[in-house]
Amino acid sequence: MLFKDKFRLHTPGPTPIPPSVQHAMNRPMIGHRSSTCSAIIQESSKRLQPIFGTKQDVLIITGSGTSALESAVSNTVQAGDEVSVVVTGAFGDRFAKLTERFGCHVHRLDIPWGERCTPEELKSHLRQHPDVKAIFMTYCETSTGVLNPIEELARVAREETDALTIVDGVSCIGAVPMEMDAWGIDIAVTGSQKALMLPAGLAFVAVSERAWQVIENNATPRFYLDLSAYRKSLGKQTTPYTPAVSLLFGLEEVLNLIEAQGMDNVIARHRLMMEMTRAGIRALGLPLVATDEAASPTVTSVYGTNDVHVEDLRQTLSAMNVTVAGGQQHLKGQIFRIGHMGYCEPGDILAVIATLEVALKTLNVPVSLGRGVQAAEEVWARV
Ligand SMILES: *Cc1c(COP(=O)(O)O)cnc(C)c1O
Repeated sequence: MLFKDKFRLHTPGPTPIPPSVQHAMNRPMIGHRSSTCSAIIQESSKRLQPIFGTKQDVLIITGSGTSALESAVSNTVQAGDEVSVVVTGAFGDRFAKLTERFGCHVHRLDIPWGERCTPEELKSHLRQHPDVKAIFMTYCETSTGVLNPIEELARVAREETDALTIVDGVSCIGAVPMEMDAWGIDIAVTGSQKALMLPAGLAFVAVSERAWQVIENNATPRFYLDLSAYRKSLGKQTTPYTPAVSLLFGLEEVLNLIEAQGMDNVIARHRLMMEMTRAGIRALGLPLVATDEAASPTVTSVYGTNDVHVEDLRQTLSAMNVTVAGGQQHLKGQIFRIGHMGYCEPGDILAVIATLEVALKTLNVPVSLGRGVQAAEEVWARV
């Protein structure tokens, strides 16, 4: 009874593509060494700077977000180096695995999933490990919907050590405040398929002067992900290898959309969607994973209950054309995650909450229809 192509994609990546971006990506192919392509690379890199809060070059890699994570590791550390990794969920765990694979001596700061890392926790961890070369952290931990207090964590890292601060911002840069230079972050990375409203395939990396010095003296073998090569090429308005040109066309249009709204308004829209989602979920009596303080503006995680089996619920929602994500690792089957980043606005949240209510009713979960929607509407109406 429903249309196959009219679904609501609310996973925390990939995220929906705006029609004008989809259209831009259909432009006829051009040579990647052409002046047209060079202008797009040069201008896009500049236009990404305010989104990262940096005056540094924003390097454009063709690859998924993990390629940027890997570049941040292989370019800065060597086998045997001591590093710290803040692990608040599956993506912190990925940084830990990556650094282990590159032979680092890894000190994990494991935080219970669903909580954020506090500055005090990082401080006492670093006092035990003052000689680490780099500290890896996740801004939005997508697996739990937690936003780590990255400004404060970066400050502690600077106060306690000389280590590089390296931040995975894949599921939030472009939707939340990011002042890389002012906060003393050395490397920040993101990917195209989250807040930046593109298909997967581009990754973005910004690097501080301090980090460039480390990178230039780091002997760890690397080729495709050698950041110095990207920097050198960007100086010549190009990339070292063939970029995903269609995605670059899309990126140009994404930047038009973000600039037309203004980054402050983009940030405010994401906060509003977070608050609407949380009010709606609460009104339905479902337990939220993150506290209000720790919640991310880009993704909301919700526990199942004795009545609500999350995989049944996801399936029912999917049959009603709403896609949400499940849990990762040990949270599989325990939680579901509603993505609300990028091409998403308050009216979309109402549709998700409304569909969720009907899905719960279908599953014979006691729910009063309209209660969640009303709570979300009240949040919106206060703006
Ligand atoms: C999505 C995501 C990544 C990258 O994943 P890819 O599948 O490689 O694009 C990395 N970190 C976080 C926090 C993410 O949400």
